[in-house]
Amino acid sequence: MNKYDIVIGLEVHVQLKTDSKIFCSCSTQFEAPPNTNICPVCCGYPGVLPVFNQKALDLGVRVGLALNCQMNEKIYFERKNYFYPDLPKNYQISQYKMPLGENGKLQLPGGKKIGIKRVHLEEDAGKLIHSINHSLVDLNRTGIPLLEIVSEPDIESAQEAFDYLTQLKLILQYIGASECEMEKGLLRCDANISLKPKQAKELGVKVELKNMNSFRGVRDALSYEAKRQEKALEENERIVQETRLWDEAEQISVSMRSKEEAHDYRYFPEPDLLDFKVSKDCIESQKDFVGELPLKKRKRFLESYGLSEKEVDIIISNLSIADFFEESCKEFNEPKKIANWILGPFLEQVNSLADKLNEVKITAPNFAKIVKLFCEGKLNNLTAKRVLSLALTTNRDIDEIIEKEGLVQVSSEDELGCFAKEVIKENPKPVGQYKEGKEQAIMFLVGQMMKKTKGKANPKIARQILEKILKESG
Ligand SMILES: [Zn+2]
Repeated sequence: MNKYDIVIGLEVHVQLKTDSKIFCSCSTQFEAPPNTNICPVCCGYPGVLPVFNQKALDLGVRVGLALNCQMNEKIYFERKNYFYPDLPKNYQISQYKMPLGENGKLQLPGGKKIGIKRVHLEEDAGKLIHSINHSLVDLNRTGIPLLEIVSEPDIESAQEAFDYLTQLKLILQYIGASECEMEKGLLRCDANISLKPKQAKELGVKVELKNMNSFRGVRDALSYEAKRQEKALEENERIVQETRLWDEAEQISVSMRSKEEAHDYRYFPEPDLLDFKVSKDCIESQKDFVGELPLKKRKRFLESYGLSEKEVDIIISNLSIADFFEESCKEFNEPKKIANWILGPFLEQVNSLADKLNEVKITAPNFAKIVKLFCEGKLNNLTAKRVLSLALTTNRDIDEIIEKEGLVQVSSEDELGCFAKEVIKENPKPVGQYKEGKEQAIMFLVGQMMKKTKGKANPKIARQILEKILKESG
C-alpha cells in the first residue's frame, strides 16, 4: 500500500472483574442458567433505582491510571436511548459528555505510543438467541459493568491493531481489572478504518467493522478491509460510511447498515444517579494496584536474566508465570535453566490440564528444587519430569516423592557397572557393531541401561561405563 495511509481507531469493551453488576447486586457469574442473575433493577422495572457499584469505579480508575489518562474529578452517567429486545429499559446507562478518563496513551513494545481518547463506564445489554421460529432473550448480562476504551485514530496497520490489543489485554490482566477472555465475551473489539492519500490532511470516509471474535480476526478483518478500500479508491468508487460485519468463515466483510440510518441516542443525564466526585483517595488507592506494567517488566527481564526476547515474551505474557519465574530464581539462581524448565516441561504439563494454570499447586521453591536436583545430576531429564508431574497439582514434598517413587538417579559406578555388564551380555549384536567402529550402537546400549534401571540411570555416566568396559574387553 504505497499511495495510501491507513487510519485505524479501536473501540474495546472489557468486562470489569466485579462479583456483582454495576447498578444492582445481581451476580456476574459466567454461564449461569439463562435469566437467573436478574432483578427488577437490571430488568428495568418501573420505580426501581440503580445503585452504583464502588468496585466498578475502582477498577475503571485503575485502568484509566494504567493507560495514563487524565482522570476527571466530577463525573456523571447519561442515558443512551434506544429500543432493543435485549435491553428492556429502552436505554443504556453510559457516560457521554464526562467520561471517567481522557487523553491517555498506550505504548507498544516497538516504542510507538497510541493515544487513548477516553475510557468510560457503562452497563452491558442482554443476549438474544435466535433460532428458526423464535428468538429467546437472556438478561443475565444486562447490567454487567463494562469499561469502553476508545483509541485515537493513531493505528496505521492491521498488525499494529493486533499489537495494541495484545498490549492492552496484558495491561488489563496485570492490574486485575479484567480477565479479558474474548471467547467468554469479556473483551470485545470494534474497529474504524479509513484510507487517505499519503500526505493528505483530511481523513477518508470511515467504515466500522464489527463481529470479530479474536485478535487474529481483528487483524484479518482490517487487512481485508484496507485492501477492499484501496481497490475501491483506485477504481474511483465512493466509499460509503457504513458498518460492516466480519465473516470469519468466508474471510470477507459484509455491509450491515449504512450510517445514514444511524440512531440519534438522545443522551441526557441519568436522573436516578447523582453526579459524583472521584476522590483523591480513590485515585491514590488505585495507583498501588497498577504496579509494574508489562512493558517495564519486559525491559527489566531482558536486562536482568540473560534470556532471549522470545523467552521473555512468553514468560511475561502471564503475570503469574512471570512471578513464578522470579520466585524460582530466588531459590535457585540459574535464570536460564529455570526459564528452560518453565517454557518446556512445566508449560507442557500445564497445557495438558483441563483448567490450565488454575490447577497448578506447586510452589516456586518446590519447582526450583526439581530444577536444581536436575542440574546437580541427582535427577535425570526423565525422572525430573516425573517428579514435576507428581508435584504439579499437589505440591507434594519433593524429597518424599523421590524417595517414595524410588526416583533417585543411579550414578554410582558399582551399581551401573553391574547393569552394564548385563546389557553387554544380552546384546551381542550391537556390541559387535560398536566394536567394528559403529559408534551409534552405544546409544542403543545406553537405552537398554535406562530400561533396566527404570529410567533412573544417569545416561552420561552409563555411557562412560559402557565404553570403559567395552574398551577393556577389547
Ligand atoms: Zn439485577
